Amino acid sequence: MGVIELPVEDTKENLNVCMDNCGTCPSLPFPPQPYLFCARGKSSQKIERKGCKCPACPVYIENNLEGLYFCESGKAH
Ligand code: SF4
Ligand code: SF4
Repeated sequence: MGVIELPVEDTKENLNVCMDNCGTCPSLPFPPQPYLFCARGKSSQKIERKGCKCPACPVYIENNLEGLYFCESGKAH
């Protein structure tokens, strides 16, 4: 039996955590919109890959996420 992977929840708490991570990321203009890319999907902004802070984000760790640049690739899972 594999681990059941639930979608990342689009909550105010997760948004606040994301603001500390995506909100200080050099890969997107500020403010990165719409934030919480792992839950909401990709950004329509111009992305320049200058690093992705997601692996250090508590939302990433709590949800056992994999991969980088959800702002570019879209929702996790
Ligand atoms: S998803 Fe990754 S690359 Fe994109 S803004 Fe957030 S931390 Fe930066
Ligand atoms: S994993 Fe990345 S996109 Fe998701 S909340 Fe954390 S910093 Fe934002």
